[in-house]
Amino acid sequence: MRIALLSLALTASLGLAGCSSAPLATPRDTALTLPAPQPPAGMRLYALQTGRMYSRAAFAFEGGRFGDERVFSAGGILVRHPKGTLLFDAGFGPSVAAHRKTSPWLLRATTKYDRQSSVADQLRAAGIAPSSLTAVILTHAHWDHVSGLETLPRSPVWVTRDELAFIRSGDASTALARQLGTASYVAYDFPDGPYLGFAHSRDVFGDGSVVLVQAPGHTPGSIVAFVATPDGKRYALIADTAWQREGVDLPAEKPWIVRRVDADRAATRAMLVRLHQIKAAMPGLIIVPAHDSRVWAALPKLGPAAAGG
Ligand SMILES: [Zn+2]
Repeated sequence: MRIALLSLALTASLGLAGCSSAPLATPRDTALTLPAPQPPAGMRLYALQTGRMYSRAAFAFEGGRFGDERVFSAGGILVRHPKGTLLFDAGFGPSVAAHRKTSPWLLRATTKYDRQSSVADQLRAAGIAPSSLTAVILTHAHWDHVSGLETLPRSPVWVTRDELAFIRSGDASTALARQLGTASYVAYDFPDGPYLGFAHSRDVFGDGSVVLVQAPGHTPGSIVAFVATPDGKRYALIADTAWQREGVDLPAEKPWIVRRVDADRAATRAMLVRLHQIKAAMPGLIIVPAHDSRVWAALPKLGPAAAGG
C-alpha cells in the first residue's frame, strides 16, 4: 500500500515538477531600515555538519526537477562571541536512526541519510567543552534539529514561547523534542524593537551581532537568526522556512507533496516573500537554509585553531 501510494505521489510530483508554477509575488520593500551591527573582533561563526540527507530538488521547492539530486545538510551553526557561545540547532546525534523513526514516512521513504560526528564530538575536537555552551538555540523543534541534544545534556536549550507551546501541544512532529532534554528548555521573549520589518526582535548580545526574530510558518515558533561577523559578513539563518536557497531566491514554497511539513502554509509563503525582500535590500546577505549543503560548504569550519578564538 505504501509503495503504491509513494509511486502515485512520485508520479504526481514528476508531473508538477515539469510545470512552471507562478512565482510568489515580491513587491520591493523600500521602507526597510538596514541595521548597523557592531560585532566584536573576536566573534566567529562556524558550520558543524552532523549528517546528510539525499533528496531531490523536486522534493525541496516548487518547480524543482526530479533529476536534480540535492544533498541536505543537518547540523548546527556555532557562534562564538566574547560574551557567550551559541549553537543554533543540534543536528543528528548518535541515536539518529531511532530518532528518524519519529519523522513522516513519506520523507523517510524519499530520503536516504548518513551520520557524521555529533556537535559535541566536533566541539571537543576543537578544544571546546560542550558544557561551556551558553545556550543551544533551536530554530524550531523538529527531530532533525533536536536529535543531537542527546549529546548536550548540560546545555540550556532556548525555544520561543510559541515553540514550547507547540512542543507541549503533543503535535507528532515534535515527538522527539518531548523525549529529549525537555527539562533543559528555556522559553524566551522578543523584548527589543523592530528589525528588518519584523515587529519585535531579541538582540542577544546587545551589539546587533546576533538578532533573533519570530518567523512562524514552518512551525508556530520558528525563528530567523541574523548574524553579523567582524569580517563584514552578514548571515540569515532561516531554518526550514526554505530547505534550499531557491526557496528564497525565486521565491518558491515547498512542493505540494511535502508541504504538510509546514504548520501554516500562508505564513510560510509570507515569510519567504519577506526574506526575499530583505535579500533584495541587502544583496550581500548570506541566506542559510538549515538544509542547503551548497551554502553550508561555503561557511567557516570548526578546526583545532578555533579553540583559542
Ligand atoms: Zn529540518
